[in-house]
Amino acid sequence: AIEVRDLCKNFGDNEVLKGIDFHVDQGEVVCVIGPSGSGKSTLLRCVNRLEEPTSGTVLVEGVDITDPETDLDKIRTRIGMVFQQFNLFPHLSVLRNLTLAQQRAKRRPKAEAVEIARKNLAKVGLANREDAYPSQLSGGQQQRVAIARALSMNPDMMLFDEPTSALDPELVGDVLGVMRQLADEGMTMMVVTHEMGFAREVGDRVVFMDGGVVVEQGDPKEVLGNPQHARTQAFLSKVL
Ligand code: ATP
Ligand code: MG
Repeated sequence: AIEVRDLCKNFGDNEVLKGIDFHVDQGEVVCVIGPSGSGKSTLLRCVNRLEEPTSGTVLVEGVDITDPETDLDKIRTRIGMVFQQFNLFPHLSVLRNLTLAQQRAKRRPKAEAVEIARKNLAKVGLANREDAYPSQLSGGQQQRVAIARALSMNPDMMLFDEPTSALDPELVGDVLGVMRQLADEGMTMMVVTHEMGFAREVGDRVVFMDGGVVVEQGDPKEVLGNPQHARTQAFLSKVL
């Protein structure tokens, strides 16, 4: 679970997050929507401290990640992260992309890492592509490899930052399908997305951000179908 309290983040004198209260409960899928520049990625990156919060509290599985005593590497192995750009190692095969961190950060023996990698490649529908290099795969396949790589670390939760925004439209469905399957299996997920259909059908809750604050949140059908705030209405009228 993730709990964020009164989180502020400044870049110089640019106040990007202005007191965010946000949580993702165990097994919950929370979709974060909002205009470009509203601070969605910054919020997500504060959760595993890719960005250092200016003030406020971020608890991951009850552990305060802003506490200097916290072992960040250990916490990060519990959080899977998938970005818009797939960030695979281009010079490594698909299989090696999935085994590297398992062997290095989890100290798993090679045979065990390979077995776990193969299980997760099968899960994302790429069982037969383990010897391919990333450049030989479509964007949608690369993104599914990135998801399988994150899953191979056995994370407690997954963070997605616009995982389908760089994909050709016909490839989006396969990636969303894998994410939907993960949600059905009970994975705890924070998903920054512009895919309103996914948010409505898969999300347990939708959070609308604008200007560094949470403007509105709640049941996806309510927030997307009957938004209460003018800023939410204006945003949705442009994207729906
Ligand atoms: P998008 O939908 O375009 O991805 P976003 O909601 O994810 O937008 P952020 O990437 O969180 O928005 O950016 C919010 C603001 O923070 C922007 O004004 C951006 O310029 C600023 N910002 C983000 N990262 C940095 C950084 N590393 N240094 C300085 N400013 C930053
Ligand atoms: Mg972003």
